[in-house]
Amino acid sequence: MDNKPSNQTGPRPSNRPVRSNNNPNNNQPKAKTSAGQGRNPRANRGAAIRAQRRTQDDAHRIANKYLDASGQQSEGQPRANFIDDSPRLKIIGLGGMDGGGSKNMLLVEYMNDAVIMDCGNDLGVDLPGINYGIADVTYLESIRHKLRAYIITHGHLDHIGGLPHIVPKIPAPIYGSKFSIGRVEEIFGNFGLPMPEGFELQTVTMNENTHERLKIGAFFVELVRVTHSIPGSTCIVLDTPVGRIINTGDFRLDPNPLDHERTDTERLEQLGKEGVLALLSESTTTERPGRTPSESTIEQSFVDIIEQAPGRIFVGLFSTNMNRVQMIINAAVHHGRKVAMDGRSMVSTLEMAVRHGYVRIPKGTFVPIASAATMKDHELVVVCTGSQGEPSSALQRMSTGDHRHIKLKEQDTVILSSTPIPYSGNDEKIRSMVDELYKKGVHVFRHETREIDHCGPLHVSGHASIDEYKDMMRMTKPKFFVPIYGDFTAKRQHIEIAVEEGIARANTLNADNGDVIAFTPDKMEIIGKVPHGTVLVDQTGAIVSNVVIKDRLMLAEEGLVAVVLTVDKKTGQLITSPDIITRGFIYIRDSEELMNAFRTELRRATAQRFKRIDLDRFKAELKDHVMQFLFENTGRSPIVIPVVNVVSGGSNSRPSVEKQQSGKPAVIEPAQPSPEQVAADQQLRFQELRAKLLGQDARTD
Ligand SMILES: [Zn+2]
Repeated sequence: MDNKPSNQTGPRPSNRPVRSNNNPNNNQPKAKTSAGQGRNPRANRGAAIRAQRRTQDDAHRIANKYLDASGQQSEGQPRANFIDDSPRLKIIGLGGMDGGGSKNMLLVEYMNDAVIMDCGNDLGVDLPGINYGIADVTYLESIRHKLRAYIITHGHLDHIGGLPHIVPKIPAPIYGSKFSIGRVEEIFGNFGLPMPEGFELQTVTMNENTHERLKIGAFFVELVRVTHSIPGSTCIVLDTPVGRIINTGDFRLDPNPLDHERTDTERLEQLGKEGVLALLSESTTTERPGRTPSESTIEQSFVDIIEQAPGRIFVGLFSTNMNRVQMIINAAVHHGRKVAMDGRSMVSTLEMAVRHGYVRIPKGTFVPIASAATMKDHELVVVCTGSQGEPSSALQRMSTGDHRHIKLKEQDTVILSSTPIPYSGNDEKIRSMVDELYKKGVHVFRHETREIDHCGPLHVSGHASIDEYKDMMRMTKPKFFVPIYGDFTAKRQHIEIAVEEGIARANTLNADNGDVIAFTPDKMEIIGKVPHGTVLVDQTGAIVSNVVIKDRLMLAEEGLVAVVLTVDKKTGQLITSPDIITRGFIYIRDSEELMNAFRTELRRATAQRFKRIDLDRFKAELKDHVMQFLFENTGRSPIVIPVVNVVSGGSNSRPSVEKQQSGKPAVIEPAQPSPEQVAADQQLRFQELRAKLLGQDARTD
């Protein structure tokens, strides 16, 4: 996948409602009387619990799309025999078998050796506070002594973004083309969290043009050049004792790429003649007929627009598409304009690309973005991130007037050199950004509206179309065919293409993540399943538990109510008026009547029950009672947290009351504890309380 924005900087608000409001009780008129009048407690309690259960179920359903391996196992999936050292070749998708752009990661295992092919992250996870997902590597941990290498097809994040999390834990050298290794070093360098002590990044740069072969354990590896939307893209050819495996990585067969680095079809044909056991082919766009147009078809469009633009020009594109950056630099230079660049991820990749000779910028062409404002309008082209309308991206900030150096104005021109990522929900973000651009009087050119904008094509996909997927099969002539890096439907369609190309249907497999595909020279079959799943990562790079996500989803849907009661240990009466704290539930100041009724109810419940049962049971009953009361009166079921602070009575009269009530002989009251003791006791109580609360929440999950 070429299309993932790589500069996610802020939490993305979830645009998905947690649940449709199908709770019939919500439509009932809200009771305004004080609680407890004329109700059927049992029925209402049931309704309240059911309502909360529904919210929980919805939260579970959404969060469970991204369960880690422990969660997957608890769903009753069979575990494969881990210690299978039979002379079978095993290929397991730890990620990427459920969708393109989704933490692509394949494991190849043979007796005492294993390699990982690609190790990406999934930027499409739409959960509160989550930046991306990575593959759960529980299984890889269990065979860590076998792991010899990580081999990378290309430098997009959905193929390398998992490395800074996983490699330090399960170290092995990372193999890839010069540009891919440059990208790997870049993401390790920019990673937010410190690496574990003693960890050293080990990389092996391979030449994808010379058919260089390296021995890795029982395997030989070779990289073969393919065209995609990032330099240095390759197929991985892995010769194993059972046969030759080819992982295409992401590819298209561009006959005329800008860097003249065409797919090495001659080598692929040669490998095919020698014999290929299995082709693992990417499945991003298997539903697109024909051939993907060449990158060179869009060159003239940029030349034309730059020639005619009256003022400054801003081009938004994907941050790693360095060939396109080169194309725009060339067009700018041709028209005597200077080039500035904005967007942290893009600048970082450009620096690496220039250092390794992938992008050439004529001397005096490049100007810092900070000095862009001082330049004459007709002298400037700005290349920037934000073509997907990503929050906080350069172009997005310019559109809203929040950019530090650039204030857009009439006669400026903006070119969006991309199309919305399919199924990403980015259409809306792009649309509202374009709205803002037009409001500023800016000329906007988009690929989708090129006919009405009177311009040529502005974007081509980095992925193959059906005829190119067919070509890949014709060149490599595999015995077995396994579609990878796509969702079930895209992979199914890829199998149809393979069958059309003469591969026996019995020699194809639509495998899921975790499926163990075993190969002998004559047979391919699924022999079991290993733990797999998604581990969620937040903005800081830290791992976030699925339990936390469920709480966030429930909080987002129903809010939170905490009641803090201070109860006299001896009398069982409330010493102060109950404190009620709500977040995201109702606005207390607008609900005075309800709050008064709520306080009365809390007082009544405490007086009735506190002395009769132990504290734990009291809190559990109180929680139920509050849930029921709130549901009856508002139709909502927020998360309820009861906090009960029990204090010993301070006045002289109270001990005597206790003495009379209990009928026991008088006991001498202990001396008043020091303030330090009180504080320490309180701290301890709150710690216990917290532990209990957390325990309760975990159980409901
Ligand atoms: Zn890609």
